[in-house]
Amino acid sequence: MPSQSIEDRRFSSIINSPQLDLSVVVPIYNEAESIEMLVQAIADSVRETQLSYEIICVDDGSKDGSSQVLIDLARRRIDLKAVILRRNYGQTPAMAAGFETAEGKIIVTLDGDLQNDPADIPMMLAKLNEGYDLVSGWRKNRQDAALTRLLPSKIANIIIARVTGVKLHDYGCSLKAYRSELIADMNLYGELHRFLPALAYIEGARITEVPVRHHARRFGESKYGLGRTIRVVMDLMTVFFMKKFLTRPMHVFGLGGVISLAAGIAMGSYLTIIKIFFNQNIGDRPLLILAVLLILTGVQLFCFGLVTELLMRTYHESQKRPIYRIREVFGKK
Ligand code: UDP
Ligand code: MG
Repeated sequence: MPSQSIEDRRFSSIINSPQLDLSVVVPIYNEAESIEMLVQAIADSVRETQLSYEIICVDDGSKDGSSQVLIDLARRRIDLKAVILRRNYGQTPAMAAGFETAEGKIIVTLDGDLQNDPADIPMMLAKLNEGYDLVSGWRKNRQDAALTRLLPSKIANIIIARVTGVKLHDYGCSLKAYRSELIADMNLYGELHRFLPALAYIEGARITEVPVRHHARRFGESKYGLGRTIRVVMDLMTVFFMKKFLTRPMHVFGLGGVISLAAGIAMGSYLTIIKIFFNQNIGDRPLLILAVLLILTGVQLFCFGLVTELLMRTYHESQKRPIYRIREVFGKK
């Protein structure tokens, strides 16, 4: 039987309560050397707050023995849950697996490489308690390579802020605190964890950011390079679309279709009139091609709008997903 420290036993009674105050979710991919130090640092920092908590480390198919380190550690520690994925899925699915397992009323995420500082957690929780649904970390003094990491990230942050309408300085920072209801409302795909604040904003969350510490990587290496920029841009388009049109695609496609169709018909009518009444030859006029093109595009866009409208209904109704989010209801039941 693995032994527990006295401190662990003291906390076990709190930890086994029906709902925890806090779940700390950490995605892990080849971070064997940092795990033990990280888990201890999180525990030290969170115990300071007197909250009941759990730490969930999700091993994302590591090949360096991280999973074994985690399993051994989870046997020894009562506050640690190790979730081992079958293969490497990526940071977003790893975080989603952690969210699925989490029981806390508040969820904090951070990286498994000790770049985020667990000592910042109490400060983030305090901020959350000021009445926010999401508190995002801002790595003001980010310790990563300037040219390949900081510059693309700076540009990406400006674009994301513009496109999504959520004004944050640093979307890439994993250190964030959420209310768990918010997490339950958001579905993650692709590499959308970077857009969680934007998705949260779509769900009507109150969002803020606080400066956090950031350290250079001590062990292992970064899992990302420049290639990530392109994927971020693609994800950004998805988020942009979701934000604008998720519940009313016909307004976009239908409107475009109607305008295109109307312009096409106007040009076609003009050509028909001058052909019939003024007996002019219209066969060699570029306007004819444009008219045909606009009419076809218009019909296509319009039909596409109808189809997406159906798809959207399936999306919402199949999972009983409301098209609104209630913050609170006051008054008698
Ligand atoms: N990570 C993961 N699965 C992956 C890639 C990364 O779980 O396929 C985890 C990784 O272990 C780390 C976090 O995601 O905890 C962030 O990765 P990394 O530190 O390489 O990113 P950076 O800090 O360089 O942006
Ligand atoms: Mg890192």
